Amino acid sequence: MQDYDAQFKNLAEDAPFDQSPVMPNMLDGDTQLQFRCHRGVKCWNACCSNIDITLTPYDILRLKNRLGMSSGEFLQKYTVPYEIDKDGTPGVKLRSVDGGTACQFMVEEGCSVYEDRPTACRYYPVALLSVRNSDEYVDRLSFALVQEKTCFGHQEPDTQTIDQYRQTQGAVEYDEKGRGWRQLILKKKSAGPAIGKPPAITNQLFFMVNYDLDRFRAFVISDSFNKTYDIPVDQMAELVADDEKLLQFGTDFLRHVLFGEKTLTEREGAYEARTERLKAKAEAIRAEFEANREKIEDEKYCAPPGQPGDCGCGSES
Ligand code: SF4
Ligand code: SF4
Repeated sequence: MQDYDAQFKNLAEDAPFDQSPVMPNMLDGDTQLQFRCHRGVKCWNACCSNIDITLTPYDILRLKNRLGMSSGEFLQKYTVPYEIDKDGTPGVKLRSVDGGTACQFMVEEGCSVYEDRPTACRYYPVALLSVRNSDEYVDRLSFALVQEKTCFGHQEPDTQTIDQYRQTQGAVEYDEKGRGWRQLILKKKSAGPAIGKPPAITNQLFFMVNYDLDRFRAFVISDSFNKTYDIPVDQMAELVADDEKLLQFGTDFLRHVLFGEKTLTEREGAYEARTERLKAKAEAIRAEFEANREKIEDEKYCAPPGQPGDCGCGSES
């Protein structure tokens, strides 16, 4: 802890407003962390009494399966949606108890879903930062320290590196399985103005594929999906049976749809068929617009129903 104090002293003193509990520096996995959380600390459950926890798709997968719920049921009962960035990229946070700030999974003994607790809970009091240089394809993990006055675990004598802490908390597996989602978000951000503000349907798709896995599965086995994409039978069987495989496939699907990467095989003629469908739809919208416009123009120049000059266009048909 002395390391941190020396490192951050000036930055913290110079802050113009109340100090944020997140220390303003990026740390690597070798950094020493003095911390231990256990039932005997006087702040037991303090962190779970006031939550702000972003869920990764893998967090949702683990929790909904633990609770024996569909993804839709889990999302409704235990989450609130939020926007990750100014483009409206959808994210999901853990919902607190009605009228309060505590986590719904908190019980006197601690966490009632401990083995399947979310990534952010595993990391605390470390925060995971995922960064990517513009010339790199993969993201790099970096960390920050969260030092809240209410958390007395920092005063315990135990010391380990951040990487050792991640291992003991099972965070390494969660990082691995959340990587596809983190990379999609980084890629979306770094695409910047070239991609522009995405249409609502793009964000709806992003939400379904990442967070509402059971709805995505129904989409993947639908006729329309299979008319477009050529998925081998064995792979389709895996996607139906295995949530984790489906989640990985979802990342490939979004890379294909959002960034034009050839991560999926489209059936021959599927692109042309899709273009034809979109053209037909656009034509129908245009025809409806024209019909309405003609009706409005006619009504503007005709007398009211029953009056001289009434051509009948205003009468109910
Ligand atoms: S999921 Fe568990 S560890 Fe995380 S905030 Fe809730 S009770 Fe605490
Ligand atoms: S506030 Fe810190 S020490 Fe206290 S229970 Fe939470 S993580 Fe453990």
